[in-house]
Formats: sequence, structure tokens, C-alpha cells
Amino acid sequence: MAVPHRYTVYLKNPGAHLIEVSLTVDKPDLTGQLFSMPAWIPGSYMIRDFSRHVVSIRAESDGAEIELHKTDKSTWLAAPCDAPVTVTAEIYAYDLSVRGAHFDTTHAYFNGVCLFLRVEGQQQSECEVELLPPPDPVGIDWRVASSMRSRHEEKYAFGIYYADDYDELIDHPFEIGHLMIGEFEVGGIPHAIAINGQSRVDMGRICSDLAQVCNTHTRLLGKPADLDRYLFLLMVHGKGYGGLEHRWSSSLVCSRKDLPHRGEEGVSDDYRSFLGLCSHEYFHLWNVKRMKPSAFTPYDLRDESYTGLLWVFEGITSYYDDLALVRSGLISTESYLELLGKTITRVIRGRGRFRQNVEESSFDAWTKFYKQESNASNAIVSYYAKGSLIALALDLTLRVQSDNAISLDNVMQECWRRFGETGEGMPEGGLESVASEISGLDLFDFFERYVRGTGDLSLSPLLNDAGIQYHLRQSQGRRDTGGKQGRKSKTPITWLGAELVTRGDREVFKVVHADSPAEIAGLAAGDFAVALDNLQLTAGNIDNRLREYHSGDRVTLTVFRRDELIRFSVTLTTPPADTCYLTEKTDCSESEEKQKRSWLGPEASLKQA
Ligand SMILES: [Zn+2]
Repeated sequence: MAVPHRYTVYLKNPGAHLIEVSLTVDKPDLTGQLFSMPAWIPGSYMIRDFSRHVVSIRAESDGAEIELHKTDKSTWLAAPCDAPVTVTAEIYAYDLSVRGAHFDTTHAYFNGVCLFLRVEGQQQSECEVELLPPPDPVGIDWRVASSMRSRHEEKYAFGIYYADDYDELIDHPFEIGHLMIGEFEVGGIPHAIAINGQSRVDMGRICSDLAQVCNTHTRLLGKPADLDRYLFLLMVHGKGYGGLEHRWSSSLVCSRKDLPHRGEEGVSDDYRSFLGLCSHEYFHLWNVKRMKPSAFTPYDLRDESYTGLLWVFEGITSYYDDLALVRSGLISTESYLELLGKTITRVIRGRGRFRQNVEESSFDAWTKFYKQESNASNAIVSYYAKGSLIALALDLTLRVQSDNAISLDNVMQECWRRFGETGEGMPEGGLESVASEISGLDLFDFFERYVRGTGDLSLSPLLNDAGIQYHLRQSQGRRDTGGKQGRKSKTPITWLGAELVTRGDREVFKVVHADSPAEIAGLAAGDFAVALDNLQLTAGNIDNRLREYHSGDRVTLTVFRRDELIRFSVTLTTPPADTCYLTEKTDCSESEEKQKRSWLGPEASLKQA
């Protein structure tokens, strides 16, 4: 039997944030063994060149040092030898994000892509990881949370872990420290959440709420054959939000205020967004971790991998994340409609939606969505937000046109059967062909207009058929993100067409919207705002100041551009009606009521194709 590649991870120096990783290969390539590190991490579509954190690296064989020649930014070639080779690297771990590695005196967190060298030509071999604690007293009482299988009995402990191959090795992040751990079951499968960071969270409540969300998704797509455990890894900070999906786990960051404390009742807006995040990453265990675009089957982690399908994998996941909250009964229909109204608002406020379609947005994620500049909202569309609205429109279209016989649920079930369970991957255009085939509908125009084109989705009539009324109104100020009716009595604001943020003690133009009064006048992102009609302007007072004027008024805006004081003459206008909110119709017909129930009701995801 082949000997596994043996990795040792030593949490060596928390003060210097250095992790020492060694790898022993028993049968290296006799012509010289090549080792490499990934340039990107699955789920986050940007070249990150993890090799740049390698501080030192050396190789030895048979007790003597051998030559290790660097052949490109991420690859090393060891001199030929016929005995086992050990490569040892010191890695700087001080990137506190779900995509990186971070090690200090309070905890260690890492993704395999940051630490583990790949043995070129032998990436199918089994891998073993010996995880060693940091020197005393730092690691006293530290526990280890990872979905990687262990060879030792004790749970949440340092020791020996293993993975079937390199691909799996890098799919199990580790969180190590003073962890709070809660456990629950979903369909008989053990699940857990491990929290790092101070928090007075109600663990019992989180576990029971997460179980409901996970159940809802499992009812929809069925338990994957290889899902025998699942772990949510959560870092709690003062301020933060984000996640990254894996096959048996997910890494999450949230703000302390997002979590419910003991005795707290109801679902706050912050907790709702935390549950939405967990729901999102859990849905990914099907949609993108097991069912992937063909372009990722297998992943090529050296260079960018291009696909026009990220809107399917992120957009449809974004649609089902909040939908599962209402279907599982954790939030009300009203609360769900508020979330939907916010997403619609986000999409229709971006003029970039007319310049880029979601296929292009997916394809160019590497250089555009992940590298957003100040012009982003004018030039690109989010494959998450618009993708989720396409999912909504497709779902409602299928329901209406098939008289409720077919929905997006059925399309996803069939895609999962065809492209997920088989491991084949979804070809470009795969969702469209499955949706057309199982519904028997001609969906060419739909995909041509909304996926390959930049058309605005016609949501109002579709929602109306499900008993939901679609409303648009003007924004009431910079904190108005839509979803709610807004205060009727508010004096209307005039429109400048720019977003300001506070940086230190200065107010800075962050975004200047296309074709807005600010753009026409010549204001630009990066300008420091000084005064509006000679009175000081701050991000905090801009809304009230703009309420003092009427549409058509000409004002003088004074800014610093670099170090030059410049005055701009701006003609204010009426704000566009770009803020959406949705309400339930009070006089629903029977068919509208039925449609709404089968879409949002608890029985919705029980219906199988
Ligand atoms: Zn996602």
C-alpha cells in the first residue's frame, strides 16, 4: 500500500506569526520532485499567490540538505534523489480572513492552500497531517475544530488528521484556540459550530435554528452520499461579515452583535443576516462544492479558471439562502419580502447592470468583481445580486407557466442529479437546457434577455401572480437601503448622485453615479468634501442639507482634489425612484394565495420532481 504524504504543522512562533510546515514524500520523482502552492482558493475568484507568504524553505533527503530550486513564483524543484524527501517551509500567517491563515497568541486559523505544498504528479495520494500545538503556555486549553477526519479518538484535539488526496486536503480549514462548540444533528448526520472570539451567545438557540435551515436545504436536494459530518467555523469580531464554503464545513466571520444572547427573543436584522450567511454557505455544499461548473472539474489552482456560470453558483445560492429562512419558518413572509426588496434595490441602483451581463460578470470575476474600483457600480453587475433575481424570476416564471407543476426547486433537483451526483460538472448553458427540458417551455428569450443580455427583470407582474405587490419610491437618504415603505412625512431629498464616506475627520466622495448631477458637474471619487454653498459638508449632514433645496436648484460644492481647492457648480435634481419594497396583497385571489404558499410556505421544498 502506498505511504501517504506526511505533513507536520507546527504552530511555531505566535509572536512572529510563523507556522512551520514540513512534508515528507516517500517516493519522489527520480528526475527531481516538483512542489507547488495554489495561486487561488476555490470559492474566492482572485489570484492570491499564497506562495508569497513562504518566508523560508529547504529540502533534505537521507539526513542531508539537497538543492531546492525555485522555478516560478509558486513552484520548487528538488534535486533528484532515490530516498524520501522532506521539504520544510516557514509560513507567515497574519491574514485574518476566511481565505487566509492567521496565527497569534489568541488563536490559529488556516486554509490548506496557505500551508500545504502540492506534490506534482502525486496529487491523488493520501495525505496525513500531524498537527502540533504551539509552545507553552500559549496553547494551553486550545481546542481544534476542523472537518478533516482524524486518526485519534479524542474530539477537537491536536494529533493526526488525514485526507484522501490533495484536493480534499485543502478543503478543510482549521480553527484552533479557546473555542465554544455546539453540536446538533441533521437527518442523523452530526453537525457542529465552533466559535472563536468573545461572545455571550445563546448556543442552544443557534444550534436549533441552524438545524432548521440545514434541514430545509437537505429536504430540497437530498443528502449527498459522502456527507457524514458538517462543521461551521465562526470567527466573531467587533465588526465583520463573510464566509467561504467547503465540502464538509464553512468558514464564517460575523460581528458580535449579529449573534443572539441568552434570553433574547425574535430574529433581529443582524441575526437574520447571520442566519442568511450560514444558509448560503450550507447550500454551497451542493451548489459549487459538489456540483461545480465543468471548468472547475477538476480545479486548476495555478491560473484563473474561466466560467460564465458563477451567477448560477452564487446567484442561485443567494436566492435560496434567504428563501430557506422563510420556508423553515425562522422568519416571516414580511421579513423575507424586506430582504428581497433590499436586493432589488441594490441591483436597480447600479447603472453597471446595463453595461455588463451576469455571464460576463462571472467570466471577469477575477479582474472586475474581485477588484472593484470606484467606478464599479457604473461598470459591472453583481452575479450574486442580479443572479439571485434571475433565480427568483425564473422560479416564478416556471411556476406561473406550468400552473405550479414545475419550479426552480425541480430544476435544481435535476441539475444536482445530472451534474452533481455524477461528479460531471455543469457545462456552460447547463442550467438553461435542464430548465427548458423539464418544464417543456421555450426559455430562450428569458436567458437571452436576462442572462446573456442586460435587460431589467420584469418582477412586478411575476410577484403579483404570487400575491405580492412591487413598489418603487425615491431614496430617503444614505442609510436607506430599501425593503421598507419608508417614512411618508419625510421632506423629499434632492439628488446629487454621489456617495460620501467618513475617513478620519474628512468626508470623501466614494462613488459618483453615472449620468448624475455630480458627474455632470465634474466631481470625482476621491474628492474631499469641504462645503455646500459655503457651509461645511459632512457625510452625517449631507441628507439634511440636500433637503433644504428643490430640484433644479444650482449649488456650489467645494472640494479638495489632491491638495487643490476647487469649486463645482451642481444642478440638483429629483432622486430617481430606485428604492424597492414589497407588500403582501390584502385581496389575494385563490390562485395567488396558492402560488404564494407553494413558493414560500413550509411545504414548498418538500415537493419532489
Ligand atoms: Zn457564495
